Amino acid sequence: MDFELPEDIRLLRETVRKFVDRELIPIEMHSMDGPDLKPEYKKSLEAKARELGLWQLDTPAEFGGQGLSLLALAVVWEEVSRSIALPNRGDGVFGPSPRPILLRLPEKMKEKYLYPILRGEKSAAFAQTEPEAGSDPGRMKTRAVRQGDHYVINGYKRFISHAKGADFLQLVAATDPEKGSRGGLSVFIVDMDSKGLSIVRENRHMMGDVTYEIALDDVRVPAENLVGEEGQACARRSRGFPATACTRRRTASA
Ligand SMILES: Cc1cc2nc3c(=O)[nH]c(=O)nc-3n(C[C@H](O)[C@H](O)[C@H](O)COP(=O)(O)OP(=O)(O)OC[C@H]3O[C@@H](n4cnc5c(N)ncnc54)[C@H](O)[C@@H]3O)c2cc1C
Repeated sequence: MDFELPEDIRLLRETVRKFVDRELIPIEMHSMDGPDLKPEYKKSLEAKARELGLWQLDTPAEFGGQGLSLLALAVVWEEVSRSIALPNRGDGVFGPSPRPILLRLPEKMKEKYLYPILRGEKSAAFAQTEPEAGSDPGRMKTRAVRQGDHYVINGYKRFISHAKGADFLQLVAATDPEKGSRGGLSVFIVDMDSKGLSIVRENRHMMGDVTYEIALDDVRVPAENLVGEEGQACARRSRGFPATACTRRRTASA
């Protein structure tokens, strides 16, 4: 087996290595304010990253990004991890990185949710985990029930990164609890300012990570905010949608 990196990825590694050596390591003692990158550093590092072409690394070219492969991204993150100047898993300086599911939304929804993310005007959080459903999302209790042209969502999410300040959630809820991970979970785009949605607790973790607990109490979400088809949150592929929500081990819920 050949473990040599292709030429283009070796060049990318050199560029990132220089960026880390010259821009990140020298500011390690001053760049952070608690778990966050100080705004003045964020701004100047973003400008330098852009200049070097290190911008929107994982966003496909058709949406203005570099469309890097997983191997190339792994090489980038390996280099960046040599420095502690940036938040552990928080705000990067390489531009917006929308979750792939947003790239497949219908055009009208892209206007509302994807393009503002790409322009840096909005941010999103991913909300799947619950107190009793971490590795096994099929056990989740958060329930979405269709009522006419809306879904009504009730439940509780835990360990949600980047929820504070986010404009919307990419939320996984059970539409058919009996089926669990096998056709019973669906993904919704839920605006953070929806009535009945509240952040109820902040949890601080090792390495500066911060997560939030979110309560959903009769939150009404337009039916058009269902992503893909009902029950397809854990599907490997569904009419052009890639594997979406169930990022964890897929265990049968029943
Ligand atoms: C800092 C941080 C940020 C996070 N951010 C987010 C976020 O943004 N959005 C979100 O939705 N979630 C987020 N999470 C949640 C994270 O994805 C969950 O912690 C993870 O899914 C595991 O769930 P759990 O902690 O409930 O562990 P559990 O599911 O209770 O698992 C406990 C242990 O048992 C093992 N285990 C579980 N089931 C099996 C099995 N069937 N066979 C063998 N071993 C098993 C697990 O591997 C693990 O070691 C975050 C968590 C942390 C700590």
